[in-house]
Amino acid sequence: KELSFKQRLLDANKEAARYYYYQMMNDPKKKAITYLEKRGIDEINRKKFGLGYANFFRDDTYKYLRSKGFTDQELFEAGLTAKDKTKQESYYDRFFDRLMFPIFDVHNRVIGFGGRVLGDNNPKYLNTGETKLFDKSRNLYGMNIARMARNKKLIIVEGYMDVIALHQAGFTTAVASLGTAFTTGHASLIRRYAEEVVIAYDTDDAGINATLRAIPILKKAGISVRVLSVEGAKDPDEYIEKFGAKGFADLIERAEPSFMYEIRQLEKTHNLKDPEGRTNFDYALAKKILTLENEIEIENYLDAVVDKYNIKRSAMESLLGKIGKNIG
Ligand code: ATP
Ligand code: MN
Ligand code: MN
Ligand code: MN
Repeated sequence: KELSFKQRLLDANKEAARYYYYQMMNDPKKKAITYLEKRGIDEINRKKFGLGYANFFRDDTYKYLRSKGFTDQELFEAGLTAKDKTKQESYYDRFFDRLMFPIFDVHNRVIGFGGRVLGDNNPKYLNTGETKLFDKSRNLYGMNIARMARNKKLIIVEGYMDVIALHQAGFTTAVASLGTAFTTGHASLIRRYAEEVVIAYDTDDAGINATLRAIPILKKAGISVRVLSVEGAKDPDEYIEKFGAKGFADLIERAEPSFMYEIRQLEKTHNLKDPEGRTNFDYALAKKILTLENEIEIENYLDAVVDKYNIKRSAMESLLGKIGKNIG
C-alpha cells in the first residue's frame, strides 16, 4: 500500500515535470527560454536537465494534474501544492512563475523540484520541502548524470546553475548539495560512485565555511578531498562564463589537498608577524597534523608544512611529541 502511494507521488512529479517543460516551450512570452539563453544554457542542456517553467497562474499545474487523475492528497504530499489557509481544502500551486529544475534521484526518477524566480525577487529559489520522496540530506543534484561518467572524480558545487554550467562545459561529474549543509548521507551516496572529489563552492564566506564543514565528513567516509577556489568569480557558473572551460580545467589541475586548504584558512585567523600569533598558529598546526590518519600522511604533510611556513622541522617534531603525549 505504502509502496504504491510512493509510486503515485513519483508519477505526479514526473507528470508535473513534463507539464513544466510543455509550459516552457509554449509560453507566448518565452520567459524561461529567454532567461536561460541570457545565462548561456543551450537547448541540449535544457533537455538533459529537463528544465521547465511554472507559469504564473496559481492553479494551472494543479488543475492539469487533477485532470490527469491525481488526488488533492497525492499532489499535496508530492510537494506540488500548498493549502490555502483562508479556505478549507483549497489548494494552489507551490511553484508559479519560476524556472523549474526537476531533481532526479540516481534512478532518474523526479523526487522534487527547485524553482528560480526569473528576476531579482525573493526568495530566489524555492525547493520542494521534505516529502516521502525527497530527502535533501541523501540526494545530490546531478548525481543521476555524474554517476554515468567514466571519470570518477566528482566536483561538488553549491547550486543548480553551477551544475548545469559545468556539465555544459564538459565537466559531467558536477553535483550540488543544493544550499543545504553537506551531510554524511551525501558522503555515503558519493562513496558508491567515487573515491575522489573536488569541492568548488562559492567564494563568499558561506562557501568557505561550508567547505570547511564538508571536508571532515567526506574524509571520514574514506573519500580523498581536494579544494579549488574560483577566485575572480562568485561561483563556478560565473567563473566558466568569465574564464571558460579551459580556465576551470586549470583550476581542477591546481586544486589543493583539503589539508593544505584547511591550514591556509587557519593561517587567515592568525597574525604570523606577531610572536604570539605565530606561536598559536604553530600549535594549531601541530594539532591539525595530529588529526591525520597515519604516519606516512603525517610525514608528508610535515614536510609540506615546515617548507611552506619556514618552520624548523625539529622544532615542529618536538611540538608534535609534546601535544601528542598530552592528547594520548
Ligand atoms: P544563481 O546563479 O541562479 O543566482 P546560485 O546557485 O548562484 O543561483 P546561491 O545564492 O549561490 O545561488 O545559492 C546556491 C544554492 O543554494 C542554490 O542553487 C539553491 O539550490 C540554494 N538556495 C539559494 N537560495 C535559496 C533559498 N532562498 N531557499 C532554498 N534554497 C536556496
Ligand atoms: Mn552561495
Ligand atoms: Mn550563481
Ligand atoms: Mn552561487
